[in-house]
Formats: sequence, C-alpha cells, structure tokens
Amino acid sequence: MILFVHMLLGALTGQKVSSPVLAIVLAFLSHYFLDFIPHAEYGVENIKEKQWAKARTEIFKVLLDFTFGILFIFLFSKNFPIIYICAFFAILPDGLTVLNSILPNKILKMHKNIHSEKIHFLKYKKISMFWRVSTQAVVVIICIYILSFPT
Ligand SMILES: [Zn+2]
Repeated sequence: MILFVHMLLGALTGQKVSSPVLAIVLAFLSHYFLDFIPHAEYGVENIKEKQWAKARTEIFKVLLDFTFGILFIFLFSKNFPIIYICAFFAILPDGLTVLNSILPNKILKMHKNIHSEKIHFLKYKKISMFWRVSTQAVVVIICIYILSFPT
C-alpha cells in the first residue's frame, strides 16, 4: 500500500497501544498485514534501478505521499511523539526494500523476497483497480475516524 495508508495505521497503533515497545512492534507488523490486502501502488522502478535522472517524478510522489501522511497524523491524532515513531516503523519495510536496491545485502534481500513477493502475492491476481483503491480508502477512513476520537 502507499505510505500514507501505512503511516495512518502505524499512528493509530501508537495512539491506541499503551506499551510503546508493543506499539512499535505492532506498527512494524501492520505494514505486512496491510500489504496482504489487494491494493494499488505507484511504481518506484527508477529509484530501485538507481536511474536517478529519471526518478524525479517517483521521488516527488514518495515525498508527497509521506508529507500527506505527516499532515493527516498532525491534523487527526493526539500528536504524541510515539504516534510519529510508530508511523515511521509502519513504513520501514518499504524503506528496507528500497535500501536493498541501493545497498544490497543478504538480510535485506531475504526481507525483500518476503515483503515484495510472498506478502504481495495478490498483486498477480486479477482484481480491479476499483477494489485496489477502495481497500486503501476504507483503511484510511477507519484510521482517521478512530484517531480523531476525543478519548
Ligand atoms: Zn510494503
């Protein structure tokens, strides 16, 4: 899923789970859980291929995605530091996958295979774009709704 969705669920974990360590672990694991669900993503092939001259649009999309995540967390959450820490851990698996393309090593490669192939197994299934976008919209709506609860 896009960073925005992962960040919101991570933030929700940080706001709702009282143990910070557990919140961070759950935020990290929430990434794989969301990636199981069929979803649409924008390509970052040029970043992965280190084609920096062609990667400008992709880098812009990643930054925009991330900025919207921070903005929505700022607007709807209680803004405790743990919320932002959990949002960071919720997107770390994507960071590790990109890092594997830039600085490959055995552990990162193993992680990439699990994250990009095993967890994303539904990417090869024929599921319409409508559903791939709707799943993410539903997660966003639920997260914002619970994040903005007064209690
Ligand atoms: Zn991912």
